Amino acid sequence: MAFELPALPYAFDALEPNIDARTMEIHHGKHHAAYTNNLNAALAGTENEGKAIEDILANISTLSPAIRNNGGGYYNHNLFWTIMSPDGSPTPAEGTAIHAAITADLGGFDNFKKEFSAAGATRFGSGWAWLSVGADGKLFVSSSPNQDNPLMDVAEKKGTPILGMDVWEHAYYLNYQNRRPDYIEAFFNVINWEEVNKRYLAAK
Ligand code: MN
Repeated sequence: MAFELPALPYAFDALEPNIDARTMEIHHGKHHAAYTNNLNAALAGTENEGKAIEDILANISTLSPAIRNNGGGYYNHNLFWTIMSPDGSPTPAEGTAIHAAITADLGGFDNFKKEFSAAGATRFGSGWAWLSVGADGKLFVSSSPNQDNPLMDVAEKKGTPILGMDVWEHAYYLNYQNRRPDYIEAFFNVINWEEVNKRYLAAK
């Protein structure tokens, strides 16, 4: 079974004005589609064809750069579309498990936002900022280069990502040009905390 490009769960313009429609259209229809197609091509006829993407990523150090780059790109964008929503909000609702965990594990929301924003802003070149659940059940913030992620055995900090922010220029350049910090601030307006909370509960 080849991997398939998932449909975007909202219209291209649904995240305006925080993320513009043209960026979403190219990001999903060209970039994510290419990662998906290139991953399938790299896996075709190998022993890893048909395996779950999480299992492939967990052994990525033994696999080709094409599988690492495109497997990461496939997984990361699948996550990315779901953790944003036109009904998003800058902060998680009080009383939710993720709100309590950010307070307990990361010193509160303001501290988390500062740490997560810095992880994205200081990632040199292309990459991602992550909020993940570690093996100890606690939340941690990290960033990774290129299309790497915390599920990979090569990751500096390993865990289950529950929120990811794409800081590749293709994610923001049409609207924000070199102003990555402005994109990061806007990203917080569209975070789907309900989905992040669901993923947090599943990962724990
Ligand atoms: Mn991207």
